[in-house]
Amino acid sequence: MTSTSSADLFARAQQVIPSGVNSPVRAFGSVGGTPPFLTDAKGALLHDADGKEYVDLVGSWGPMILGHANEQVVEAVREAAGRGLSFGAPQAGEVTLVEEVVSRVGPVEQLRLVNSGTEATMSALRVARAATERDVIVKFAGCYHGHVDALLAEAGSGVATFAMPGSAGVTASTARDTVVLPYGDRDAVAALFAERGSEIAAIITEAAPANMGVVPPLEADGIGFNRFLSETAHAHGALLISDEVLTGFRASREGYYGVDGPTGTDDAWAPDLMTFGKVIGGGLPVGAFGGRKDLMGLLAPAGPVYQAGTLSGNPLATAAGMATFAGLDAAAYETLGSASRTLQQLVADALTTAGVPHVIQTAGTLFSVFFREEPVTSYEDAKNQDTAAFTRFFHAMLDAGVYLPPSAFEAWFVSTAHTESVLDRIAAALPGAAKAAASA
Ligand code: PMP
Repeated sequence: MTSTSSADLFARAQQVIPSGVNSPVRAFGSVGGTPPFLTDAKGALLHDADGKEYVDLVGSWGPMILGHANEQVVEAVREAAGRGLSFGAPQAGEVTLVEEVVSRVGPVEQLRLVNSGTEATMSALRVARAATERDVIVKFAGCYHGHVDALLAEAGSGVATFAMPGSAGVTASTARDTVVLPYGDRDAVAALFAERGSEIAAIITEAAPANMGVVPPLEADGIGFNRFLSETAHAHGALLISDEVLTGFRASREGYYGVDGPTGTDDAWAPDLMTFGKVIGGGLPVGAFGGRKDLMGLLAPAGPVYQAGTLSGNPLATAAGMATFAGLDAAAYETLGSASRTLQQLVADALTTAGVPHVIQTAGTLFSVFFREEPVTSYEDAKNQDTAAFTRFFHAMLDAGVYLPPSAFEAWFVSTAHTESVLDRIAAALPGAAKAAASA
């Protein structure tokens, strides 16, 4: 007999899929309980196999920026599907999608499409190492760049959720070529470059970290952290890779680069390479990496850096991405920003009323809630929060029909479908959940 309840499906899944899931955070390992198995979704609402409805604040971890099953996106995919699912040969949609990214993000002169954010960052590292003929990569604690061997040390997202230092199965020599520094620590960056500058191929950073919760880059002496990284790397012949897989086309129309990139020619700076994912595929598997033409020109077949993909530039994925971009006009960012601000206020009010220590941090339209009093500027800070209070809050929200990221180390994702009536439903759930968080 076929099982249909979430509990039955999870039991079956655990027999044949490791931990019952195809990506770790989905297992609810840190918050406990059975993850709802979802059957369908529309706008800001999800339905599970048990017939329950939830307001979604995960949005498939970012891609569903126009809400689920957006009519234009679904129609574009349906139309593309009717013309063939995959060609493994060039098709017009690839050109249109890449032109859109290039037109929105100044530093991207050329872009290659891949199938995930992980592939994007992995490929960007390869280009950076080839271009500089150096091996060492610098990353920041709490930043997550996908499950690339070289980038799992002290990573955010699921690695943070499960308090893992990195991953087994990564060779010692790979780990040796990755240096991890505390996020935002300019002295540490300067000291490392002073000592080992000639070995460093690139710094990779999330444009605004969002995988340890949202920790925006800070200014010091009028210089933003990303610009500081770019200048430091360049002074030593190294490159800056800005990972916008999560922030891209969400934090603003141009991604986080639209928030802290140069506003005039006198302060011009740019990452050399950038990575994207999530929003650019509208819910289908897509990633991309791009940047300076001379660097991207190193890719095969013209250049010596090999990188390829059977399904890269898939016609359904490019159709979903273009339809999503078509919906992301100025009004959409207004709606997103307004939904995000309203939600932040509702959460702050409920937690304050219940006496729950919290701090809400933002990066463009992105935000997250930390269960501690003081601002979070590093992974060390992020770890130092009341995760037990978060867990109580999470389960009370879930019981009341609001689906939050099942971890205190993740951003909350709104969409243009988070209308006033949807936000009202969240508002109704919050006081009880805040009370649960307070009841240690
Ligand atoms: N970089 C960042 C900043 C991310 O947030 C993520 C995914 N959350 C990735 C890379 C990896 O993307 P994917 O899961 O598509 O491999």
